[in-house]
Amino acid sequence: MSYQKPIPLKNHDNHPYWDSADRHELSLQKCETCQEYAHPPGPSCAKCGGTELSWVNLGSDIKGTVYSYIVSYRPFLPGFQDDIPLITAIIELESVPNVRIIGNILDCKSEEIAIGLPVKMTWVDITEDRALPQWKVV
Ligand SMILES: [Zn+2]
Repeated sequence: MSYQKPIPLKNHDNHPYWDSADRHELSLQKCETCQEYAHPPGPSCAKCGGTELSWVNLGSDIKGTVYSYIVSYRPFLPGFQDDIPLITAIIELESVPNVRIIGNILDCKSEEIAIGLPVKMTWVDITEDRALPQWKVV
């Protein structure tokens, strides 16, 4: 059966992020002016407004901790009915503490999730050429 959930759209600003995800890697946008990382990616730096942006590949070994989370007990979109309860979390990256990435935490019971829990990024192949970054408890 084909993938039933929404597939993130690539655009001019974010396609390097999703292209990396499709290869099971994380790339982040970095401002050449103030050297800050930014996520989600945009046309200019959220901190200084600089438009000289580059991309840094952080590879496949991505660790972080749970900064905040919610647990959904009913599906808000078609395709999620088998994932309930679904944990959606904001993850603070270990190597780049200013950057937080939202994703689902897989294979985790709702009573086990906690702020500060260590997690690592994992990628779920959702179509032949697309993969979705998600998180698993370490
Ligand atoms: Zn900047």
